[in-house]
Amino acid sequence: MNRFRDSLDKVDPIVFGLIEKERKRQQDGLEMIPSESFASLAVLQALGSVLNNKYSEGYPGKRYYGGNQVVDEVESLAIERVKKVFGCEHVNVQPYSGSPANVEVYSALMELGDTALAMSLSEGGHLTHGHKVSFTGKAWKFVHYGVSRKDERIDLEQVRALAREHKPKIIVCGATAYSRIIPFKEFAEIAHEVGAYAMADMSHLAGLVAAGAHPSPFPHMDVVTTTTHKTFNGPRGAVIMCREELAQKVDKAVFPGMQGGPHNHVTAGIAVAAGLMLKPEFKAYGKQVVKNAAALAKTLSESVRIISGGTDNHLVLADVSKAGVSGKEAETALDQALITVNKNMIPFDPRQPFDPSGIRMGTPAITSRGFNESECSEIGGLIARVVKNHSDSQALSSVKQRVLELTAAHPMY
Ligand SMILES: *Cc1c(COP(=O)(O)O)cnc(C)c1O
Repeated sequence: MNRFRDSLDKVDPIVFGLIEKERKRQQDGLEMIPSESFASLAVLQALGSVLNNKYSEGYPGKRYYGGNQVVDEVESLAIERVKKVFGCEHVNVQPYSGSPANVEVYSALMELGDTALAMSLSEGGHLTHGHKVSFTGKAWKFVHYGVSRKDERIDLEQVRALAREHKPKIIVCGATAYSRIIPFKEFAEIAHEVGAYAMADMSHLAGLVAAGAHPSPFPHMDVVTTTTHKTFNGPRGAVIMCREELAQKVDKAVFPGMQGGPHNHVTAGIAVAAGLMLKPEFKAYGKQVVKNAAALAKTLSESVRIISGGTDNHLVLADVSKAGVSGKEAETALDQALITVNKNMIPFDPRQPFDPSGIRMGTPAITSRGFNESECSEIGGLIARVVKNHSDSQALSSVKQRVLELTAAHPMY
């Protein structure tokens, strides 16, 4: 055996076997976690490339290491394509993932201890939007807005009142468990009225924005972050986009402020994914994701309460408590039927985070495999059946059989 040159199945059959097992799990089941999607084979190939080997601290044309002629071309290409996809002024493709990208923006635009305003985790925000267990909540003073009890939508009057009262340096919008349009323009107006930077974290929405299936944060926002592995359909990573006048601050906050060498294989994957986003097929994909989520919500609403009464995007948040089941029990039962969702808090949830009242579902991954509205409507029925019969093993196994038929009809790679 040659430890350096032989392929994975020969060098390490154990790890190879685990990867094959996971491939089968992904193929057989319905992946309905809204933050997940399937990267294309082309993206996976870029990730498994020799670009992994190169150190290139710095930016194109200004590196601290030699031998970066090719890496400079890769990074510049990724930047140009992302600019073209979103129509933004400046792009940094180096953040290691969504969480560090957010920390990098905060440290670029605030001093430690400054105040920011963001959505609370329990009503749909992200940990890195200043939750107390997150570093972001310790390093900066975050004030939180939420949704209104009336319609479970973002309460812009509350956002405006909190902004006027606390005079934050940054107002963050964007969420992980919110199924309605994010009003980017209105958020930016409120931020600018109080002299704050307007920031959107569109991690969940980037692909929908690129496809024209959700309004764009540009030109309203001053700075926008996104992961590249959710609806972006790319490698695990993130990008920061901002106005030209903030470019230097943001770039410095990423490197050397927070990170060392960029992950060049990921940068190549971002370039590939952004290239695919520029194609007409991607517009069709993004629109189909939204149509599929609407079809899913419609059938589900016959059996469980859909938070805010429906969805405008790729995700559906459902309150399963009226069906006599907790979010955790629903997640476990659905897992047995090969449908992967996650338990989630619902707004004003009377239950605890580790066993909340809701489940969160999304359509980006199954849409990549070619599922359409009628299949998503059927899947809504299957989910409802599992929720209603969560302790009936016969019902779970009959749903599982149907899931296996559906997934066999849509091979992945
Ligand atoms: C996923 C997500 C993040 C964090 O991304 P990681 O890559 O998991 O660090 C940040 N913000 C939002 C809104 C997200 O959905």
